Amino acid sequence: MEHAKTPAALSLRGKILLPSGEWLLGQLEFLDHITAITPDNTAPPDRLILPGFIDAHVHGGGGADTMDGPDGVRTLARFHAAHGTTTLLPTTMTNPWDNVLFALRGIRRVMDEGGVPGGADIVGAHLEGPFISPGRLGAQPPNTLEPTPERIAEVLALNVVQAVTFAPELPGALTASFEMARAGVRIGVGHTRADAETVTDFLNALNAVGTTTCATHLFNAMGGIEGRIPGPPAALIADAHAYLEVILDNIHVHPGSFRLACAASQRVMLITDAMRAAGLGDGISELGGQRVIVKDGQAHLENGSLAGSLLTMDIALKNAMQAGISLAKASQMASGTPARSLNLSDRGMLEPGLRADLVVLDTDLNVLEVYVGGKKINVSPGTPEPHG
Ligand SMILES: [Zn+2]
Repeated sequence: MEHAKTPAALSLRGKILLPSGEWLLGQLEFLDHITAITPDNTAPPDRLILPGFIDAHVHGGGGADTMDGPDGVRTLARFHAAHGTTTLLPTTMTNPWDNVLFALRGIRRVMDEGGVPGGADIVGAHLEGPFISPGRLGAQPPNTLEPTPERIAEVLALNVVQAVTFAPELPGALTASFEMARAGVRIGVGHTRADAETVTDFLNALNAVGTTTCATHLFNAMGGIEGRIPGPPAALIADAHAYLEVILDNIHVHPGSFRLACAASQRVMLITDAMRAAGLGDGISELGGQRVIVKDGQAHLENGSLAGSLLTMDIALKNAMQAGISLAKASQMASGTPARSLNLSDRGMLEPGLRADLVVLDTDLNVLEVYVGGKKINVSPGTPEPHG
């Protein structure tokens, strides 16, 4: 053979979560992709092997933010990989337009350079704002803009955005959505003052042409559900196609509201919406140029608004189970469902032929090992991040 020697396959033994939701005591072999899954009754049952987590909405972590540029993206990709995230979309903030474009170019550059060694795979950007309602900023700074054809063209030319958030009531939002959907971008509804009817009309128009739609952090930065006023959450949950991002840190969303979404929809997906301060403990931080105060595990802006989260996907998975969801279902929300929402058919499940994006957990769901494309990530099992 003139080929270089074929590298030996690696293997993991434990309880393997199959795409059917069943568990198999066995061995999983892999190179950069999964090569075989076979039963093995002697495998350790206290090592749970799951598909790596996919976080479609994450601003930062470990002291870094997407808006910092390429170095920030690399740092946050490594930080979240240590918590089991094997794929993520660095997410921009609503900032002056040039800053947003700078951040998008930074993500593109990291991708073009082959990704982040030792970090999660980056499959594109989530553009969260500036095409949102100035009346539902949440923790976003007041730099909202209308989605003009010129701005949409500028974004699409960068060939990096995989998910976008729109307030449907903005002038031009539907036209811009069609334009971005044609480029394969997932269209999110969020940071909106729209009523349920406006959201339903918007979703129906997009569904009619087969666009993938999503709630951007369902329940947050939108009106609530009341009997006489259904609000965006009711429209989004009741839609037959929309994916539903949830920040399940038990601060942004009550477990009861999460259970309602899970009972009504098969398309709930866990996100972190994490910010720079994730992993750093209490102290002063920053989000989109705003001062953030982190105290007792909660992050607020100076005006008292809930800021981004301090969540990681491993904790989101634990919180889903504490809310009464089975581990197999919770894993689907953390991997399989977000993969589908982003049209990533090469990951999100454990199956021969798919990427070897793997997370090994103990029975308390602590991260023991993580592999991204078959490469082992440096994690410190069970050790909390240093407080700084
Ligand atoms: Zn966000």
